[in-house]
Amino acid sequence: MDNKFPGKDISDEDLKTKFPLVAKKNKNHFSSFKVAGVEFGKQLVTFAGPNMVESRDLILDVAKNVKKIGADFLRGGAFKPLTFPYRNPKYNETREEGIKWLSEAKKKYNIPVITEVMEEKYIPLVAEVADIIQIGSRNMQNYPFITACAKTNKPIMLKRHYGSSLRDWLGAAEYILVEGNEKVILCERGVSVPHTHRSTSRFLLDLQVVPAAQELTHLPIVIDPSHATFWRAWVRSMSLAGIAAGADGVMLEVHPDPENSAVDPLQPIDFKEFGSLVNDMDKLAKILFKKTILNKR
Ligand code: PEP
Ligand code: MN
Repeated sequence: MDNKFPGKDISDEDLKTKFPLVAKKNKNHFSSFKVAGVEFGKQLVTFAGPNMVESRDLILDVAKNVKKIGADFLRGGAFKPLTFPYRNPKYNETREEGIKWLSEAKKKYNIPVITEVMEEKYIPLVAEVADIIQIGSRNMQNYPFITACAKTNKPIMLKRHYGSSLRDWLGAAEYILVEGNEKVILCERGVSVPHTHRSTSRFLLDLQVVPAAQELTHLPIVIDPSHATFWRAWVRSMSLAGIAAGADGVMLEVHPDPENSAVDPLQPIDFKEFGSLVNDMDKLAKILFKKTILNKR
């Protein structure tokens, strides 16, 4: 393809010179790798948990329930990129303590953990507990930070910035691979566009980026319909649509009492909805791709 629109299209020359490690070597090249016994690229992977690790009780409760339902990974931020700097006791990061609770939940319920790190100084602490380090949207192009995360050699999930092109996203992923860290998962979490159908929806889930990414890269790609829709009633349909589009996994915000979630209370689903959605995602993945999520239960 001629690179007529720099910043948008990706030419064969770009694939060779700008992201040779992220680029597919041939049409059927898709990498698969195991993280804590979960095989990315081969089975449909689910991540579930609250937006924020609000308390010890909350994270233990969620770990127990989502594990029982069939989630592969427990998610939850102890370090959170919160849009405004003001805090109250309910709306507060739990930071080091939150990481400790994640570690406790992981051991107690035998579920691996994915959690975000935002500052270089906390990388060792987070890497000790996390099975996958999450790089948040807002840090997608913080190259020295990405490089420092990559050097831990822990698996990394790189969330797409909501204003980023596929080209820039893959360029950021290349920064991880170039450090010799090959366990990289991409996560589409919604892009910022003028029209999002509802005033509560800040973002639009870019489902097209799933096949677009799969044309170019062998890396697994996960969708996050919770952050993308910002609206729990749409999470089910967008999860199923994401799987139909070919996503390798789904990250979902799950909370025992969604309306009282400390952060973004409009987007999490409860355990019952999560259970029903997992069953439907499993059925769909089996029909379309002969992949399963529930074989490990
Ligand atoms: C999150 O997953 O908790 C999160 C903050 O997501 P994002 O970086 O996509 O906004
Ligand atoms: Mn969030």
